[in-house]
Amino acid sequence: MQDIRTALELAREHGVAIGHFNVSDLVVVKAVFSSARELGVPVLVGASEGEREFMGVRQIAALVRSLREEFDFPVFLNADHTHTLEKAVEAVKAGFDGVVFDLSALHFEENARQTKQAVETLKSINPGILVEGEIGNIGTGSEIHELAPDLSKYLTTPAEAEHFVQFTGVDVLAPAVGNMHGMSQKMVRGENRKHLDIERIAQIKTAARVPLTLHGGSGTDDEDLRQAIAAGITIIHINTELRVAWRSGLQAGLAAQPTQVVPYKILPIAVESVKQVVLSRLRLFNHIEKLTTERNSLVPSTARERQAVT
Ligand SMILES: [Zn+2]
Repeated sequence: MQDIRTALELAREHGVAIGHFNVSDLVVVKAVFSSARELGVPVLVGASEGEREFMGVRQIAALVRSLREEFDFPVFLNADHTHTLEKAVEAVKAGFDGVVFDLSALHFEENARQTKQAVETLKSINPGILVEGEIGNIGTGSEIHELAPDLSKYLTTPAEAEHFVQFTGVDVLAPAVGNMHGMSQKMVRGENRKHLDIERIAQIKTAARVPLTLHGGSGTDDEDLRQAIAAGITIIHINTELRVAWRSGLQAGLAAQPTQVVPYKILPIAVESVKQVVLSRLRLFNHIEKLTTERNSLVPSTARERQAVT
């Protein structure tokens, strides 16, 4: 079975990025996994501290492991945005493949000092664990914000990236390059998109010489994402777009069957809704053209879903 490091190396070699999708329930796990399988591309399942608390650290680890084993498929589990060493250790012990150790709210030097310690501790538990460090400010909360904050003065410099990676020994770096967590109302309506500093990504990649992660990918312009991958991004996080699709799919499922109480008759519509987003993002990240004959093109629209179930 391919491990996470090999998957990252292959992605870089092929000029593609691995999609990282956050989950907090079985609906989203199913949508992410079945999309990746359908397209035949590796995928990262992410669970932040809050998402882990809801699903159970060991329970989500067991679930993802069971999918990987049963289907012999490269699906990996990442402990997204972990703010304490204690929580990071808990995830590593539960069998996570990677940890995003995020002390980016601290001063740069303090962040570097504590991240270095964390890398040592986590690798003493599992030498194969992939540790990602965070620098710069990309905001918090993968949710809908009234307005997009102006984070332009907190962008990562190539010099910071180089120093941080060398000092801490992180395997992966998440820089601030115009990305941000969450989406504005305008982005949800498709009236506005995030744009990335492509030149900065290329410079950071040259300086850092490790795989780079783009957080807060939701609502980013497609062409910017393509260029970001070409410039050196190897992992792209999508969360808010899935949450928006989860909610609308759930609402459609409930509205379509007002008297239905059987979860497995309502929730498939939510799975399909999330799946459409995951499929479209995975195609973009992996340069997979959408074929009209493809099964995915038959994924019903909300209107057709309603018809199909009534
Ligand atoms: Zn993030």
